[in-house]
Amino acid sequence: DYGLSEADPEVREIIHKEKDRQFKSLELIASENFTSRAVMEAVGSCLTNKYSEGLPGKRYYGGNEHIDELETLCQKRALAAFHLDEKKWGVNVQALSGSPANFEVYTAILDPHDRLMGLDLPHGGHLSHGFMTPKRRVSGTSIYFESMPYRLDESTGPVDYDMLEKTTTLFRPQLIIAGASAYPRDFDYPRMRKIADAVGAFLMMDMAHISGLVAASVVGDPFEYCDIVTTTTHKSLRGPGGGMIFFKKDPVLGMDLESATNNAVFPGLQVVSNCGALASRLIELGYKLVAGGSDNHLVLVDLRPLGLDGARVEKIPEVASITLNKNSVPGDKSALVPGGIRIGSPAMTTRGFTEKEFIAVADFIHEGVQLTLEAKQSVKGSKLQDFMKFVTSPNFSLTDNVSD
Ligand code: PLP
Repeated sequence: DYGLSEADPEVREIIHKEKDRQFKSLELIASENFTSRAVMEAVGSCLTNKYSEGLPGKRYYGGNEHIDELETLCQKRALAAFHLDEKKWGVNVQALSGSPANFEVYTAILDPHDRLMGLDLPHGGHLSHGFMTPKRRVSGTSIYFESMPYRLDESTGPVDYDMLEKTTTLFRPQLIIAGASAYPRDFDYPRMRKIADAVGAFLMMDMAHISGLVAASVVGDPFEYCDIVTTTTHKSLRGPGGGMIFFKKDPVLGMDLESATNNAVFPGLQVVSNCGALASRLIELGYKLVAGGSDNHLVLVDLRPLGLDGARVEKIPEVASITLNKNSVPGDKSALVPGGIRIGSPAMTTRGFTEKEFIAVADFIHEGVQLTLEAKQSVKGSKLQDFMKFVTSPNFSLTDNVSD
């Protein structure tokens, strides 16, 4: 039996390059984080060899006594991390990631073609909450279920709850989904609960992005108001890649994953204050932030007032090993050339950044934006300028960021 270096040096080399990239860059993608060595050890273990379909004590395969013990421990820790009473809430920890977790919920509580409403993708929602263009049902969710989006109030920023309320009375969804991939404010759960109750809909929260902040009690508690709560385990929670579904004890379903939830609480507070420092500095530098600021771990910068788009601005920091992502902002016409960038604080908080460093991050990004502006106006000379010329040219080909 050989280790990776002997068995497959080619793969080893690629992993090595990726490790180097992660180590040397400023990771500002709001959905990413650095997990601990302990988690990596657990994930890269003999557990990978085992089939364990079913639930603890009720498996379709033999030899699951240790897996049962582990899964039960994981469930206990997941409930404890979110301060949940085991009598009232259950959790399934088997989902492979966030999108399958969401789809499992839909299949558990809806029939095909039932109606659901989630935040529109260009307004910060996630693809798995249902997304359609006028021509196409883009998301599997909108192929198998009828989806109607709700949106932000473009004049004031936060979710337009009045419009959501009006639309639900017409559309009469069976499920309303709170939660987002690029929304810097907290959700108004009491209001959403009322809206859902008025039409007899389930209320689900996909807290994938903010679960570490929920565990740390630095944002609103979705468990007080929602019937079902889903999450990934690898974003602000800083666990390994996976998903979980929390459900009120009486109802339905189930899903995947393991622990590391027990060390999720610590980074929560600092993640939010670091993001606040980043947001304040960006505002000071004159940027327009979607929803006027941030209550959580991410900011969305609207670049349109500068005549720029996120696709190009994303590329300049990348040259300087700063990783962030282009993102749609309300009012965007195209998801291919969105008008904003999304910047998150979880990963670099894990690596020890404080508010001071996040202010510097804002300044770096500002420099990148200035360079993009300059490059757009005149480009000559250096390799970097050539690169900028390339990314600012109209022929620059772009990929979509919708899945993140
Ligand atoms: N839900 C939200 C709100 C997300 O932002 C994401 C991904 O970024 C997901 C679900 C999907 O998670 P995964 O990529 O693990 O399927």
